[in-house]
Amino acid sequence: MTHNRRDFLKQSSVLAGSAVAASLASLPAAASAQAARRGAKPRLTLRYRPYTLELRHVFTIANSSRTTTPVVLTEIEYDGVTGYGEASMPPYLGESHASVLDFLARVDLSKYENPFELDTILRDVDAITSGNTAAKASVDIALHDLLGRLMHQPWYNIWGFNPARTPYTSFTIGIDTQDVVRQKTREAAAYKVLKVKLGRDTDRMIIETIRSVTDKPITADVNQGWKDRAAALDMLHWLKEKNVVMVEQPLPKEQVDDLAWLTERSPLPIIGDEGVQRLTDIPHAKGVYHGINIKLMKCTGMREAHKMIVLARSLGMKVMLGCMTETSCAISAASHLSPMVDWADLDGALLIGNDVYDGTQVIDGKVTLRDRPGIGVTKLTG
Ligand SMILES: [Mg+2]
Repeated sequence: MTHNRRDFLKQSSVLAGSAVAASLASLPAAASAQAARRGAKPRLTLRYRPYTLELRHVFTIANSSRTTTPVVLTEIEYDGVTGYGEASMPPYLGESHASVLDFLARVDLSKYENPFELDTILRDVDAITSGNTAAKASVDIALHDLLGRLMHQPWYNIWGFNPARTPYTSFTIGIDTQDVVRQKTREAAAYKVLKVKLGRDTDRMIIETIRSVTDKPITADVNQGWKDRAAALDMLHWLKEKNVVMVEQPLPKEQVDDLAWLTERSPLPIIGDEGVQRLTDIPHAKGVYHGINIKLMKCTGMREAHKMIVLARSLGMKVMLGCMTETSCAISAASHLSPMVDWADLDGALLIGNDVYDGTQVIDGKVTLRDRPGIGVTKLTG
């Protein structure tokens, strides 16, 4: 306790003197420190601030292009220990700085005496609204990080996963001109698996261009860009010949019957992404897709993502772990689940130029977990 309190006071004075403290919402750290000195019970304190990720390249998928991604960085403090979280809001998910800040203003963690009541706390947070999955994930991740730090254990240990069994991550190449695709493929030499965005009339050109540079396996993400199931099946056979190993969301999620038809005949695994958001979607996805793409920002965070992996596996489905453009905070959080999945697409932090955390790394293309408590991150900048 004495040790914790000393660290807490030290951290409080650092925070109070920084620009971060000025921009963080909610209770000032000094007030908690005073409460601690009076012998009051420690309380959970949530802080958050908006931040904008700068992408290294213009990122183009089937329906949109962009150069920035809004995120909200969260912190949950308890008894002098701080856990870190993040919400990432690519525009097509319907969340924004404003919607996440509004949601977080409605989260009152001070009423919980025991921070380990993860199920109760996160169920209550989930019940505040029906959507806001990224905002909910930012609370979930910070709380997991905090608890791991309080237990002095990384989450792969708490869950019982072997950290050496992490997969290779794919590296994403967006839709672009032939020259840029060729250049990006060369730049991605360190990665063992490439992920390409398809869904426009340039699909064959992109695959052929990559194949003029390398034979390494490719995963393809159509982002609902194809519309006709028979044409899609022809394309899947062609992609298999080109050593494409899996295809995400080939048809619009609403075309459930067409997707089931395609999945029954496909020579490649079909993975649902836009069509599968949360745990309760999985029973409906059985038969429509061979597997699911789990993302913390879609499913409200680590707690539900873990449950989704268990359920999908029990139904004999394949599992992919994906991400948005995110800092190393949310990427690190997801990476603790990666020893349990078939494919990982955790390159989100590699696509940005202004990361805020040091955490899980990609070394020789492999997701490489840090031997640190919680989600394993340290803060780089304010
Ligand atoms: Mg996808």
